[in-house]
Amino acid sequence: MSDLKRAHNFNPGPGVLPLEVLQEAQSELLNFKGTGMSVMEISHRSKEFEGVIQTAEADLRELLGIPANYKVMFLQGGATLQFAMLPMNLRPAGASADYIVTGSWSKTAVKEAKKLGAVHIAANTEADGFNCIPANLDLDPKAAYLHFTSNETIHGVEYFTEPTPPAGVPLVCDTSSDFISRPIDVSKYALLYAGAQKNAGPSGVTIVIIRDDMLARVPENLPVMLDYKTLAESGSLHNTPPSFAIYMVGLVFKWAKKQGGLAAVEKNNRVKADLVYKAIDESGGFYRGHAKPEARSLMNIPFRLPSEELEDTFAKEAKKENLIGLKGHRSVGGMRASVYNAMDLAGTQELVRFMRDFQKKNG
Ligand SMILES: *Cc1c(COP(=O)(O)O)cnc(C)c1O
Repeated sequence: MSDLKRAHNFNPGPGVLPLEVLQEAQSELLNFKGTGMSVMEISHRSKEFEGVIQTAEADLRELLGIPANYKVMFLQGGATLQFAMLPMNLRPAGASADYIVTGSWSKTAVKEAKKLGAVHIAANTEADGFNCIPANLDLDPKAAYLHFTSNETIHGVEYFTEPTPPAGVPLVCDTSSDFISRPIDVSKYALLYAGAQKNAGPSGVTIVIIRDDMLARVPENLPVMLDYKTLAESGSLHNTPPSFAIYMVGLVFKWAKKQGGLAAVEKNNRVKADLVYKAIDESGGFYRGHAKPEARSLMNIPFRLPSEELEDTFAKEAKKENLIGLKGHRSVGGMRASVYNAMDLAGTQELVRFMRDFQKKNG
């Protein structure tokens, strides 16, 4: 496929998509399933689009093992809108919600939730530079829910075991950047949400998985596009949904199933992440990872070099070798390699080879 001049794409988001998915979308772009139209040009109430959204949901249910008492929604507004929608729907007036702050994204979630009501911080690792998962939580047994971010995309820290809320407190997770990267036990959660553009598709659609009993909490008279109950009951079809983005995530779900499901996807992700962490650990301090080893993300790997000057050179030379998107977030600096599901082993090996060569020349 070298004739396609595809980049080794380490972008944090929107991120790399499987080549097969892009090719499939390309092959049916002009004539979707014999309609003579693109999937973008057909009614969201047509039987063809019904097939798209229903198959996407069924495949996701199979991939994640979503129990029958959960609804799946395909919404707009990004994960950022969920920061506000979640407390509007699930935190009753006067109640407080617990948040675990492990990086920029959970910090932003708190900022939004505070605009609309009470928040209690169960833990905050900012004093450690957001490089770890907190060992101790100060949990409110009356909290409306406990919110955490399973993978902090900017700081590269990931939860591999969910925090345990007090009995009766629903667990809520922003899983935007490690969604469908490994198996999880959905039954432990009351709600999960993920913007698709990190690991599951293009931007424009946010997946929300909600346990049915949570819908009883939704207050009356929310604006309709902010109301989980209306959106869930209409099968995400209250108004025109982001139909092309839903089609694309559907193709990605099919692709993940073809890989052998999420256990196989996780296995590949571990092999890739291990390669990069090994290159960091074997560099004798030339490369320094941000996260503590036990909290290291399998998806986003931020690391520093001895100087900012070397970091600039690293990014520039990597780009010349077709290794793209390696500059870290401005808030952390340094480099960041995002090795999402669709990053292949060959691309990861190229990065590791480049890291070793670069150290030899500059170390
Ligand atoms: C990117 C990201 C967000 C914000 O997503 P948008 O879809 O751009 O609103 C929220 N949380 C996490 C963990 C992210 O990685």
